[in-house]
Amino acid sequence: MQRAAVMAGFDAAKFRAEVRGFCRDQVSADIHEQIGKHQYFSREQRIRWQRLLQAQGWFVGHWPKAHGGQGWGQLQRFIFIEELERAGTPWLTHFGTSFLGPVLCAFGNDAQRARFLGPIRDSTEWWCQGFSEPGSGSDLASLKLRADRGETHYRVTGQKTWTTMAQWADWIFCLVRTQAGGRPQQGISFLLIDLRSPGVTVRPIETFDGGQHVNEVFFDDVEVPLANLVGQEGEGWAIAKFIVSRERLLVTEIGKAFHLLGELHSLAATMSAGTQSLSDTAAFRRRAADLEVQYRTLRATAYAAVIEAEAGREHAIDASLLKIRGSELQQAIHDAITDLLARSGLAFQTEGISADISGYRHGDLRLPGLLHEHLHSRAASIYGGSNEIQRGIIAKTELRV
Ligand SMILES: Cc1cc2nc3c(=O)[nH]c(=O)nc-3n(C[C@H](O)[C@H](O)[C@H](O)COP(=O)(O)OP(=O)(O)OC[C@H]3O[C@@H](n4cnc5c(N)ncnc54)[C@H](O)[C@@H]3O)c2cc1C
Repeated sequence: MQRAAVMAGFDAAKFRAEVRGFCRDQVSADIHEQIGKHQYFSREQRIRWQRLLQAQGWFVGHWPKAHGGQGWGQLQRFIFIEELERAGTPWLTHFGTSFLGPVLCAFGNDAQRARFLGPIRDSTEWWCQGFSEPGSGSDLASLKLRADRGETHYRVTGQKTWTTMAQWADWIFCLVRTQAGGRPQQGISFLLIDLRSPGVTVRPIETFDGGQHVNEVFFDDVEVPLANLVGQEGEGWAIAKFIVSRERLLVTEIGKAFHLLGELHSLAATMSAGTQSLSDTAAFRRRAADLEVQYRTLRATAYAAVIEAEAGREHAIDASLLKIRGSELQQAIHDAITDLLARSGLAFQTEGISADISGYRHGDLRLPGLLHEHLHSRAASIYGGSNEIQRGIIAKTELRV
């Protein structure tokens, strides 16, 4: 890794230590407390954290220098994200910094870059991603959201769904259909839409962890200036592919797996199986060792893939493979944690249980947060392209079926 980093023009070990130290020293007390309890972060906390990263020059480190970034390559970006995940800090709202920013640098015009890049860098505008529609998720090219071109505006009508954090967003970038007929991938364009425009409705979808991560977004004859078209009409599919190709390897989330493994070990150490700590039982050791081996194998595979990608040799199936194994590992660690926690019975709201009843408090303060996360982790094998679709890609590429 160090050799690849030197070739990419940075010192990997030094950079990693810097990011790790930053996460240790700069996370505020309230965020630190919530990391410890596995609680969701508020919009304000996320923005505050992103601004700290930006002040350090890291929030858009992967953007070209000409647009306020540091020109990081894939390896440096991967190390950065891995360290944030290991520390459990708030998930970056990737829609602006990771998706739209690079799109505008590559496909946008000067006016669009001048208008939109600054507010992404400073986290003054929050973006969300409008790709999926009812019936158009895996089969994205079948999307129907219509944008009819007028003299000065498009008129947009239809629906997006599963839109992450749209309830907090100011703007949405959408794949829209500007032309019917031809191959489904043709006639798709990339449009920037102000969510405060008349005719836009954002409706929450409650997920089964009880959270509001995703939304439906409805467009009823919404006027969008022609100036908000990115690239050319019909170029939307190419832009979508550009987005997917840039951050494909990050979906592995190995830093998150590391963080969760740490929680598994620490919970087991504080829970007992009769007279001994759970972490000393053979059953736990076997399961934890298996997860540890899976984690280390995945991490080594991920870095090998990133180093290849940095050298311009990304293999077509790497991202699919890492997405499948990364999401499965995350779910397996959550399963193990949940099995451990089951020993605490239904002590779901630990604060609500009287310590007087049995002389000690059941459960761990992390318990409610971890159970919510366990439920939400089921979505990891769906979002970003489901695991079945990834298996299909591997089969087509490797087995030519
Ligand atoms: C938590 C969460 C957040 C999301 N955030 C966003 C967001 O911010 N923006 C956005 O645009 N989208 C978002 N999505 C949508 C996500 O990209 C889609 O859910 C995903 O692509 C699957 O599409 P679908 O839900 O329409 O399921 P479908 O495509 O209808 O699939 C249903 C089932 O059939 C299987 N299937 C479908 N086709 C095939 C095939 N050819 N071969 C084998 N199996 C197949 C799938 O694997 C799945 O199990 C999010 C989803 C989730 C769960």
